[in-house]
Amino acid sequence: MSRFLVQRASLLVNSFKNVSRVFLIPVRNLNLLEYQSKLLLRDSGVSVQNFAIVDDLKYAPEVLNKFNAAEYVVKAQILAGGRGKGHFDNGFKGGVHITKEHEKLLEIVKNMLGHRLITKQTPKDGIVVNKVMVAESVDIVKETYVCILMDRQHNGPVLIASPAGGMDIEAVAEKTPDLIKTIPLDIYEGITESIAKEVANFLGFGDKLLLDKTVAELRNLWKLFVDIDALQIEINPLVETKDKQIIAVDAKISFDDNAQYRQQDIFSLDDAGEDDPREVEASKFSLNYIGMDGNIGCLVNGAGLAMATMDIIKLNGGTPANFLDVGGSVKEDQVYQAFRILTEDAKVEAILVNVFGGIVNCATIANGIVGAARNLGLKIPLVVRLEGTNVMEARKILAESGLPILSASDLDEAAKKAVAAIRQ
Ligand code: ADP
Ligand code: MG
Repeated sequence: MSRFLVQRASLLVNSFKNVSRVFLIPVRNLNLLEYQSKLLLRDSGVSVQNFAIVDDLKYAPEVLNKFNAAEYVVKAQILAGGRGKGHFDNGFKGGVHITKEHEKLLEIVKNMLGHRLITKQTPKDGIVVNKVMVAESVDIVKETYVCILMDRQHNGPVLIASPAGGMDIEAVAEKTPDLIKTIPLDIYEGITESIAKEVANFLGFGDKLLLDKTVAELRNLWKLFVDIDALQIEINPLVETKDKQIIAVDAKISFDDNAQYRQQDIFSLDDAGEDDPREVEASKFSLNYIGMDGNIGCLVNGAGLAMATMDIIKLNGGTPANFLDVGGSVKEDQVYQAFRILTEDAKVEAILVNVFGGIVNCATIANGIVGAARNLGLKIPLVVRLEGTNVMEARKILAESGLPILSASDLDEAAKKAVAAIRQ
């Protein structure tokens, strides 16, 4: 299946789940934490503040003692924005804290590390903070927004800029779109001197010294964008400081996973620590999987059919436990692994297989199912609806297996049977 379809489907799934989990799409484009992004920025000559990272309370005093600044900013590291306005599950307010007092740092770090941070962009129960950044604070005069993005609509990269950056950029985009400029970039030319000047002026950095610095920062950002095969480099805010520096105060970089083979150093930074373990496991076997909160595990081929299956389960009063598209070129082993992931999920009380064999051979699916059901000692009801290529052979394999498989001839019947199986 094309990547486009997968991504489109995942957007639909995300709206279906009614939560914004943009970083949990089946195409696992790598995202880095702020501090990791800043290391890349620094290496490319983009200005960032000095920082230290605390990931273990035991060593926190040691790390903090070595770090000195006139003022500090303490920032929880998670793969979601909106931290400044977020709150923790222990009641602590704000994922970004500023203090002048060195002796307060440890207390702030203690309130963040190991606790869940909830922001507008996280799932509703938040994300555990495993790393905290302690950075030099900077004296901000003006916060702006800059982002280089691969944009489907423009068939290439665009530069998005706003003089009204900072924590309310979403509101700016909605209420005052004139304050946001989108400039399509030529992939070979990138951010030219003249584009960089135009943007610096638009950001309000027209004064000679600031202009030169902004132009240099933007040109370095572009160079990095190309060098690391980024899909997005977002700097919010890019600030002007009291002493007339231009500094990237927050950074978010995501990468094109098609480029993994030539960006191995970067991809090795991915600890996948924040992702749903079911999704991490599934991605090892190239399965397009998204975990959900329901109890009917679905194994489907094709994103469209997966969406339809989830809809019909809902229509019949059930709730899907996942979105799982095994794709067109699925092998028996992947079917086995998909089954294993579903059965290891304690929430799954029934499994529904819905496969339309176009490219995929139904017998492959049937063999995978039978093998998995036997080896894994399947104890929950299994409803199977197969149609298409080699379906007779597939039905025979299922029937002769002697396993208690409930078969269904169409989608509606399959969903009804799965829902009924749970209610019994
Ligand atoms: P998020 O976007 O997740 O809320 P940011 O890193 O953008 O997190 O921080 C939120 C706000 O905190 C910034 O818009 C800025 O006003 C302030 N801030 C962040 N880092 C610093 C810093 N080093 N010095 C001064 N203020 C900062
Ligand atoms: Mg920010």
